[in-house]
Amino acid sequence: MTEVEKRQDRAPVPSAFDYAPAPESREVVSLRERYGLFIGGELVDPRSGEFHPSVNPATEEPLAEVAYAGAEDVDHAVRAARDAFENGWSSLYPGERAKYLFRIARLLQERSREFAVLESLDGGKPIRESRDVDLPLAAAHFFYYAGWADKLEYAFPNRRPQPLGVAGQVIPWNFPLLMLAWKIAPALAAGNTVVLKPAETTPLTALLFCDLLGQAELPPGVVNIVTGDGRAGAELVKHPGVDKVAFTGSTEVGKEILKATAGTGKRLTLELGGKAANIVFDDAPLDQAIEGIVNGIYFNQGHVCCAGSRLFVQESVYEPVLRKLKRRMELLRVGDPLDKNTDVGAINSKAQLDKIAELVRSGEEEGAEIYQPPCRLPERGWWFAPTVFTNVAQSYRIAQEEIFGPVLSVLTFRTPDEAVEKANNTPYGLSAGVWTEKGSRILALAQRIRAGVIWANTYNRFDPASPFGGYKESGFGREGGRHGLEPYLRFDE
Ligand code: NDP
Repeated sequence: MTEVEKRQDRAPVPSAFDYAPAPESREVVSLRERYGLFIGGELVDPRSGEFHPSVNPATEEPLAEVAYAGAEDVDHAVRAARDAFENGWSSLYPGERAKYLFRIARLLQERSREFAVLESLDGGKPIRESRDVDLPLAAAHFFYYAGWADKLEYAFPNRRPQPLGVAGQVIPWNFPLLMLAWKIAPALAAGNTVVLKPAETTPLTALLFCDLLGQAELPPGVVNIVTGDGRAGAELVKHPGVDKVAFTGSTEVGKEILKATAGTGKRLTLELGGKAANIVFDDAPLDQAIEGIVNGIYFNQGHVCCAGSRLFVQESVYEPVLRKLKRRMELLRVGDPLDKNTDVGAINSKAQLDKIAELVRSGEEEGAEIYQPPCRLPERGWWFAPTVFTNVAQSYRIAQEEIFGPVLSVLTFRTPDEAVEKANNTPYGLSAGVWTEKGSRILALAQRIRAGVIWANTYNRFDPASPFGGYKESGFGREGGRHGLEPYLRFDE
């Protein structure tokens, strides 16, 4: 570190460095009081008769009542999807399917502000992220898979790709619209129809998406959305009319789905949890690495399956990395998700907040040292301050379990071998990050770290053309890229 850098590093963080509020307008979203289930191209009342409110996690205020699908409703949706598959969609000229996907992508772009505001209202994530990450990526997925729809024979030459039928898709609450795009775009491009179940706490952008599908004039029944809780997900997964199940969520539920689909002949992909290692070597550009560490764990409040929740720092740079990290954390702005200055928004639900708090308590009890920058959390809603733990042993729960919150565990290493051994010491294998100026070291580590995605000198970068998925308890199958089409196809070879 140069003398100038050292001086900069020691300068106190400005204490009265305040931004004026920059709230995004809530008025761009108009919500109904009540939403039914989207089946056969229209919102219908649930046969279950059940409705529950979806709540804004930043204020605890109910936003709208949403239907909870029962077994009969799921059956209704699967039949609608089968009907659409057999009577038009699967035999449609692929170039026509592509046109619908392009249309959806363009409409998402046109209405992106409305979707972004609703995503932040319903899920708690900062508007800057919904606006700059979730929405552009969701549209990009539809654009990307629109391009493949009439080129499947080139994607899989001499294999005669055919659609499977009805895809049952269950998604989580951390990237509600983006996960919907990851699931629906490849399924439709491959000629399948869909029944999708959004997460209980974040159904509203999926319901707004139904409105967009009407605008795109997608034929009825090609996409059906059944809102509800885990029971609806379980009904969908076990329904005999579903040919392919795609799930993103916890490892625990993933295992249940694996059991429920075993022996049924259903195709299955599982994208489950993670406990990624973000590894910083002493030759890394440290200021850049700090940004990557912060983005890796505090992006979306840490509600990210590929979050860099275990930081491994080479011992020789431990002290400057920790000093810079704490200083950077002091500048994070926690609060109103609709404020364009906010870096860390609300925790998605009370249940998730309790889970984070419980794991953080376990970290303190097991002997780790906690640091949280001074920050004032709003009184209403569910919040957790950005947290870093040092003095962490590999066996601690905070170093082993997925916290899914803004909590980082810092560990150290001396040699590349030790870094690899510690990085792989987890039941998960979804993602990792490596920070070093040596390209050869990056390539060597990438060969040895057991993770589906490895970022080098960056973190949390996504591209629809790039496959994403895990090893071990992080699941199997890939989403994104040409690989993401394969689970939605059978091959008449
Ligand atoms: P779940 O795995 O329970 O939820 C994911 C989706 O599956 C939701 O739509 C959920 O519905 C549905 N679901 C729940 N039970 C079943 C079932 N038996 N069969 C089919 N579908 C089901 O995650 P949680 O929301 O409960 O979060 C718990 C933990 O999981 C988090 O703390 C986090 O550690 C991890 N997680 C990981 C994610 C990832 O991307 N890797 C994403 C979300 C959570 P409902 O919302 O109604 O429960």
